[in-house]
Amino acid sequence: MATLRQHALSLVQQRERLKVTPPSPKISDYFGMNVFGLKQMKETLAPSIYKKLLEAIEKGSKIDINTAEEVASAVKTWALAKGITHFSHWFQPLTGSTAEKHDSFFDALAGLERFKASALVQQEPDASSFPNGGIRSTFEARGYTAWDPSSPIFILENTLCIPTIFVSYTGEALDYKTPLLKSIEAINDAALPICQLFDRNVKKITASLGVEQEYFVIDKALFSARPDLVMAGRTVFGHSPARGQQLDDHYFGAIPTRIKDFMVDFEIESHKLGIPLSTRHNEVAPGQFECAPLFEEVNKATDHNQLLMDLMEKIAERHQLKVLLHEKPFAGVNGSGKHCNWSLITDTGINLFQPSNSARENLQFLTFLVATIKAVYENADLLRASIASAGNDYRLGANEAPPAIISVFLGTTLSEILDELEKNGNVKIEKGDNMYMKLGISKIPEIILDNTDRNRTSPFAFTGNKFEFRAVGSQSNVAGPVSTLNVIVADVLQRMTKDIEKEMDAGKEKKIAIVNVLRKYIKESKKVRFEGDGYSDEWAVEAEKRGLSNLKATPQALDVYSRKEVKDLFERHNVMTGKEVHARQEIMMESYIKKVQIEGRVMGDLALNHIIPTAILYQNKLIQNANGLKGLGLDHSAAIDTIQEVSKHIDALKSNVTAMVEARKKLNKIDNIIEAAEGYQKEVKEAYFDKIRYSVDKLELLVDDASWPLVKYRELLFLR
Ligand code: ADP
Ligand code: MG
Repeated sequence: MATLRQHALSLVQQRERLKVTPPSPKISDYFGMNVFGLKQMKETLAPSIYKKLLEAIEKGSKIDINTAEEVASAVKTWALAKGITHFSHWFQPLTGSTAEKHDSFFDALAGLERFKASALVQQEPDASSFPNGGIRSTFEARGYTAWDPSSPIFILENTLCIPTIFVSYTGEALDYKTPLLKSIEAINDAALPICQLFDRNVKKITASLGVEQEYFVIDKALFSARPDLVMAGRTVFGHSPARGQQLDDHYFGAIPTRIKDFMVDFEIESHKLGIPLSTRHNEVAPGQFECAPLFEEVNKATDHNQLLMDLMEKIAERHQLKVLLHEKPFAGVNGSGKHCNWSLITDTGINLFQPSNSARENLQFLTFLVATIKAVYENADLLRASIASAGNDYRLGANEAPPAIISVFLGTTLSEILDELEKNGNVKIEKGDNMYMKLGISKIPEIILDNTDRNRTSPFAFTGNKFEFRAVGSQSNVAGPVSTLNVIVADVLQRMTKDIEKEMDAGKEKKIAIVNVLRKYIKESKKVRFEGDGYSDEWAVEAEKRGLSNLKATPQALDVYSRKEVKDLFERHNVMTGKEVHARQEIMMESYIKKVQIEGRVMGDLALNHIIPTAILYQNKLIQNANGLKGLGLDHSAAIDTIQEVSKHIDALKSNVTAMVEARKKLNKIDNIIEAAEGYQKEVKEAYFDKIRYSVDKLELLVDDASWPLVKYRELLFLR
């Protein structure tokens, strides 16, 4: 009897490559062809309308109905010419994926294709099926999507997609985009006054984001033959292969042909959608890869990352492949993250995190650098909460992933400069003296040369001209962590401006006032700076001594949202109300519980219905064999040993699964969501998952290969 595993493996043998050719050798010939962006708007709209729209996009001014009508009409004409018949508002509910609600352009009453401003601007999807964290009871199923003109309209699979926010009838955010947009305003409002201390010409500051996306790719048939991957996105069982990532031969190695075809394909489709995808390479683990677009304004970059994930899954299908976006699909090899490269850029074209040759610009650079460090120090727990998920719990602090302790890495040169500033900031300026020279500010350009100073173990690292938030999980919506980052930095910048003004009011010269405040902030936030090995056990000990938190699991991390100061912070910057923060916390806790629940169920099902029956069949064979040997008067002690070992694991498996089911039953009676989440963490996951896995993985080594039901790691990971 062939197992599903054997069937899947034989399918893989028959796979043929799907060769892909770009529509043109030049990317510029098709880049953005499926996007109704600024270029298309300029081409199709009357100049006065285009100007109004541009103002709305750049300054957030209101769009009047007439302008919306003109845009809707132009978009419809553009879409119909491309053979598109349906449109949809495209939004990011708190489920973590994207949602669409399709409508036809065809108006049966009028007998023609129509797209009115009202349909462009607002829709009313059934909100009851999306999580709202108790903001509204489900019978009041009204929620609105509203057009976000700052993100371009695009075509995905024959549908015109309009990026929108998603809010409740009473105006509370039910999505990721709404708080992100508000945080973009908050960081601009807070950064501008301080920036203008250096340059009065600056009128706008844009947060920019470049997202490096890690993922695994496996064959589709192998995926389907693993119920745990299908149900939970990760393998709950599987013994590590003889060859793991020890050889480190995968990193930047050759990309297997079928996967290369897939990558070329989704690169082409991404480019058509205006996603500036630029790099592709293998990651450290076998079967793991990474792609990264060029950085963009954060709202656009966030939409593009969501779109990219959708696209990857869709395109993989064509190649009989499956993309795994889970943070830890395989135990024992690296997990997947989503490095968020973040910086602030002025409308005069200056990256505020870019060291320069000018001492004045470097003082500005240091100001923003120190403000960010201070923000991370003060809000480390909140940053940790922003990346908390059941999936990321398996990754943080395991196998070369950043630890759950939030610290900042700067590199040697910058660390020295901050130390120098802290110690020698009381510079007396005498005639002929150069304050900058004394403070080391003029030395900063050296770090441009020192750009190789990288530390892969840090969750939050300065990398030359940007910060890289590395602890973000691969399947998360980056809007969560990035809006948090925007808000916490905005908060410090606002306070910093006041502190500088205070110094100036007390008669200090502007530069001295700034330096004084920087010195104070450097001292206050010093504890969060760490240049050593974040993977080491010593760091956990040292961090504890420094008083830094180490919130290892999601329930404790999410508990941070209960704090009054956290709610106050979001309220103060108009990003979320306390109620919205609370709703988010509930949704994420619920999602955590559900995920652990599903994993537990899959484990139980696989163990009881697949593994144990297989092991018993094998055990019977061994018993026959032992009896046969005995009948012949031969030594059968080895067979007896194996029988005992198999029996031992079967028994352990049975009793642990039974106990886990009991624990789940008990927890399902708990109403308090935080208690329930913590219960699932400690009494289900931590109490049983490893034990159950241990028995199954041992049995995998004992039972004959031909009858083992689950596709093995070596088969999943080494696709050529
Ligand atoms: P790494 O060495 O970490 O792979 P890369 O140079 O490949 O770094 O860049 C990673 C990402 O950082 C890319 O998406 C890139 O566009 C983005 N990036 C570069 N500069 C900035 C910046 N100033 N602000 C935000 N993102 C940036
Ligand atoms: Mg990186």
